[in-house]
Amino acid sequence: METKQAKMCGEEKIHAINNILLEWWRESGRQLPWRKNRSLYGTVLSECMLQQTRVSVAIPYFLRWMERFPSFTATAEAPEEEILLLWSGLGYYSRARNFQKLCQKIVKMEQFPETPREWQQLPGIGPYSAAAIASIGQNYDAIALDGNVLRILIRLHADWLPRETFRDKNLAAKNLQLLIEVMKIPGRCGAIGEALMDFGTEICTPRGPKCNSCPIEKFCSLKKLNLSAATIPHFSKATRPPVHVHRLWCRGIGGIWLVRSQRSRLRDFYELPVLSEKFLSLPVIHTFRRTICGICYVEHVHDFDGSAALSPFFPTETDENAQIIAVEDLNKIPISGPHRQCIGKILAEKEK
Ligand code: SF4
Repeated sequence: METKQAKMCGEEKIHAINNILLEWWRESGRQLPWRKNRSLYGTVLSECMLQQTRVSVAIPYFLRWMERFPSFTATAEAPEEEILLLWSGLGYYSRARNFQKLCQKIVKMEQFPETPREWQQLPGIGPYSAAAIASIGQNYDAIALDGNVLRILIRLHADWLPRETFRDKNLAAKNLQLLIEVMKIPGRCGAIGEALMDFGTEICTPRGPKCNSCPIEKFCSLKKLNLSAATIPHFSKATRPPVHVHRLWCRGIGGIWLVRSQRSRLRDFYELPVLSEKFLSLPVIHTFRRTICGICYVEHVHDFDGSAALSPFFPTETDENAQIIAVEDLNKIPISGPHRQCIGKILAEKEK
């Protein structure tokens, strides 16, 4: 394809990089469960699970899910409580609900969506997932572009990209658009996308890229420009101060006091109750951090280990959502991942 960018960075270079990357991927690509016995359903599920989640964390969830709900229909018809329980620990629970809604829509369709644009009409599917699903699952000619791919392309083509693109993800994506068009090999875009994902995880990593074992090192611009891969690119993030939340640990009343969350992202998940500000003098027994939508929450758990005179400590949530759950029943209800971990740690500590 004759484009300004293709001329600037060299079509031949782009095609040579593609070929070497595909060769490298054939030999060294990751063996992942959703790449074995590939199916469109498995591709969609894996893409939904991998939004904001590392591959190693998603694998056991993917395997359990495929065993319990192996098709769009099985997920569409599942009770929501079971969906949430199975997703419990993966975080970002709106993804679980959206995935079920997506399955419910798919089973009513006469045919599957076929283009990234059509996939993006479904719940929980953004531009990256849509391009990944269509290219990997349906051989559509699109290359899914995320931070990983941007990093590799910026490093390879730093010699002609404006310096601002090293710090600004959106600008980088815009300036690389035409290059990405040139990268497309009809019928091989899914493989190129997966090769780039693996290459960005195994070789061209964010902080310590393994340049000495990089199969495309001779094409990389960083050495030529004497620039450090450890700092390029360095996309700036807006930093916000952490939000402090206080929770109540109340045991000794036949179980642990939990509250069914009504917040949209965590709706129907159980968590430790929020403690009213009046009682912040209760001792803190555990502190943990969690990040939701880029905001860091520091959660402090205060101890009230008694059964009498509960009313002064009653949490701020409404009574109907507060429940006392026996320890042996904790695995039967959906609990957000950070709270399940926190409860496990406190129980282990108290039973020492
Ligand atoms: S040489 Fe290093 S920075 Fe360049 S593409 Fe290879 S791993 Fe990435």
